[in-house]
Amino acid sequence: MYKQFLFLLIIIFNINMFAQVVIKDEITLYETESPDEETLTMPFYGKITGNVNSGAIINNRIRKVMIEADGQIVVRQCICGAGCPFIQSSWIINGVPASTPVTVTVYSHCENGQFIGAETRLTDLGDNEFNIEAYNPNFQQWFNATTLKFTATTPPDCPNAADDCPSGFTEEMPELILEHQPPSFTSDEECEDNPNRLAFFSPGLRASESTNLFKNISTSDIEVCFDEQTQEWKFELTENITLNYIKTICADNITNPQTWNATLVYNIEQIQNMQTSECAKLLASIEAHKTYFGSGIQDGFVFTEILDSHETQHQNDWQSYINKYKNSYYNIPLEISNDCIDFIDDEDAKTQMLSSIKNLFFSEFWNPYKESFLLDEYLSPDDDATKEKHKQLEIKLHDRETVQKIIKAYEDAINNKCD
Ligand SMILES: [Zn+2]
Repeated sequence: MYKQFLFLLIIIFNINMFAQVVIKDEITLYETESPDEETLTMPFYGKITGNVNSGAIINNRIRKVMIEADGQIVVRQCICGAGCPFIQSSWIINGVPASTPVTVTVYSHCENGQFIGAETRLTDLGDNEFNIEAYNPNFQQWFNATTLKFTATTPPDCPNAADDCPSGFTEEMPELILEHQPPSFTSDEECEDNPNRLAFFSPGLRASESTNLFKNISTSDIEVCFDEQTQEWKFELTENITLNYIKTICADNITNPQTWNATLVYNIEQIQNMQTSECAKLLASIEAHKTYFGSGIQDGFVFTEILDSHETQHQNDWQSYINKYKNSYYNIPLEISNDCIDFIDDEDAKTQMLSSIKNLFFSEFWNPYKESFLLDEYLSPDDDATKEKHKQLEIKLHDRETVQKIIKAYEDAINNKCD
């Protein structure tokens, strides 16, 4: 019947960091039977309060304001055909869960004893507060209808829940730190126990000293809070997680007259300063470094940069294993979901959440990483098949370009001197 012009405005903006409130404002230039309404979304558990413009209702500038949320309805009106001496302006709706739609409908005037819905518009005042105006076609003017404010409150089922999470509270796992440790860190003295060993890399899986690896983190290293917006407990760990490794050269084994009786060479300059009388030993020694199981360093030279580059390859492989599983580590917060009634207080939340985090750390990250690394790379050869697999891994690793490049640089320096 009536020609309608419909403007649909959708405004999306953020409240705090995460709360998303969608405001839908339909403005009709000519009124229809059904009033338009303002719909907001409750950003967290809490109460909604406001003040209706009671003066405008008494003076017939607007006739009725209705606020609905979570099945609760507040009505402030002056019924059609009657006068209104007093209208209470303040209103409150309590105990509204997060994400609940909140609608405000305003009626501007009466026709034939019926309320006529008004066009409305909404202003964001900031800090979870809004103002809603209604248009009265008889006065051709906008009038304030009501204010509306969202306030977070503690859910009734959780009298002991902590305050809502302070800003900046991030539920993220702390960094995984890879830390170089001295050889004494392991339970085994790898160099001493293996007199022929020239160097080694160990991922610290058999640490003898206490570490701040996950298992030692206590309730003093965890913060908790109850997030009223998501209605969930959140945690924050304040200690980094350290994965220790050892990478070292067994200098005593190399120089020991009982074993290799060799001389350590730390850099190429050392070769350049040598006498040509050392050439036979230098040539035999560099030949020995070319392959993993090469012989010829006995009474000769050991080039530490070459050993180090070999062990660094082991370190890189180890880091790849960590990388393969570290998403499982960083995703631990996604796996933990606790609502307010799960814990009786902060301490209870700390203890129980820490236990969940530890369980997930071991089941999702540590055990799979450790098992696959030990199985594939960090072999302890007891039987012939494993010995052979270990040997092949070492040969392939030693043949990598990075290692061979350093060997080539030493070889060139030796050839320059000895040609
Ligand atoms: Zn190796």
